[in-house]
Amino acid sequence: MKVLIVGSGGREHALAWKLFQSERVEKIYAAPGNDGMSDLAESVAIAADDIPALADFADQHKIGMTVVGPEEPLLAGIVDYFVERNLPIFGPKKQAALLEGSKAFAKQILKKYKIPTAEYQVFTDHDLALNYLENASYPLVIKANGLAGGKGSIVAANYQAAETAVARLMEDKAFGDAGDRIVIEDFLSGEELSILALTDGQTILPVISSRDHKAVFEGDEGPNTGGMGAYAPSPYVDKKLMDQIAREILRPTLHALNSEGIDYRGVMHIGMILTSNGPAVIDFNARFGDPETQVVMPLLADDLLKLMEMTNNVELKYLTEVKLNNKEAACVVLCSAGYPFAYQTGHEINGINNLLNYDDLIIFHAHSRYENNKFYTDGGRVLGLTVVGSGILEVIDKVYNYIEEIDFEDMHYRTDIGFTLSELPNSDSDKND
Ligand code: AMP
Repeated sequence: MKVLIVGSGGREHALAWKLFQSERVEKIYAAPGNDGMSDLAESVAIAADDIPALADFADQHKIGMTVVGPEEPLLAGIVDYFVERNLPIFGPKKQAALLEGSKAFAKQILKKYKIPTAEYQVFTDHDLALNYLENASYPLVIKANGLAGGKGSIVAANYQAAETAVARLMEDKAFGDAGDRIVIEDFLSGEELSILALTDGQTILPVISSRDHKAVFEGDEGPNTGGMGAYAPSPYVDKKLMDQIAREILRPTLHALNSEGIDYRGVMHIGMILTSNGPAVIDFNARFGDPETQVVMPLLADDLLKLMEMTNNVELKYLTEVKLNNKEAACVVLCSAGYPFAYQTGHEINGINNLLNYDDLIIFHAHSRYENNKFYTDGGRVLGLTVVGSGILEVIDKVYNYIEEIDFEDMHYRTDIGFTLSELPNSDSDKND
């Protein structure tokens, strides 16, 4: 089968890496893909949002499965368009993808069906939002309603920070129309994690837990980015907790969508906080997370193509679980200093060649460019280094060892991915006490 991956980041590289291992996949195209994944997927010069051109390509090349990486094409209706033209594609239709595309819609569903989440208010009027903030207790989280590349949520410690956040979203329009409506929600304390689930609209299967670090600086400080690093699975999620999450969050969410007449198929990636009252939802993604996919794909034992087909064919009820390989993985993202704001590109990346022959290391490219036998930086998030092995703290250590081999001008990365793991009872720091 020929497969088309839509998108160009580290997530798409990881999807290509996994799909390449499927016996039935004979050829992978990526539109537009990136230079670092060219050994796995042939790049097609079509932008990820040019839906008619993508469909024409899929039609002409007899693509057996199109996999959509980023959220924007899902919200723009790529799945609806492909289905209309009878072209196989994996992911939710536009109406279902609203679970990610509108935080107000997601909160309304959560609230109506009593699925655990933070209390919240929605505002379209700047002054009313400020009125609310004057009498609120802090911290609070201010969120752009629409898509903002994962950067539209701001944790505000006090009124002043909240006022600045509201101005940034509603007046400065930092994320365009996405901030015309904002959600202000209570801050939830506890460990953060994500659950990747697959659903065919009737059955929802949890796949694995993971944890990403969105803030640009150590200690989860500074502005949110698309994601600075991740690990999987989360040691905070044992079988009992996963069952609880399936019972209290996954299945009720699917039931809620069905009750609203929404047929949701594809990936449901749910961000949550483990509060003292149990897990509570903070957001939904209607597609694979990035960088989470860079740690999840290497842990997936099942054939990804087969899982996608089963999802499309409403066959997940035949699976009792999605098989994993019982290893751990961690990924640290190397980015350009300044990201998520202004940054420079075009710097030569040194040292990649020293890292090509380690069995436990995978380099996923996000924004790199290959020219004259060299890689150059070409965006905010440049590379993700993923190590797969045994022991979450061990694999994280190994990633940092490998990073010492790589450098480029203005390289920035977080030195503390997984820092909250030191609070676990069986962590290394406890063993050394
Ligand atoms: P989101 O855009 O909703 O994914 O949020 C981005 C980040 O903000 C999350 O990864 C959390 O670290 C943080 N966050 C969002 N909502 C909350 C909340 N209600 N309580 C605590 N932290 C939150």
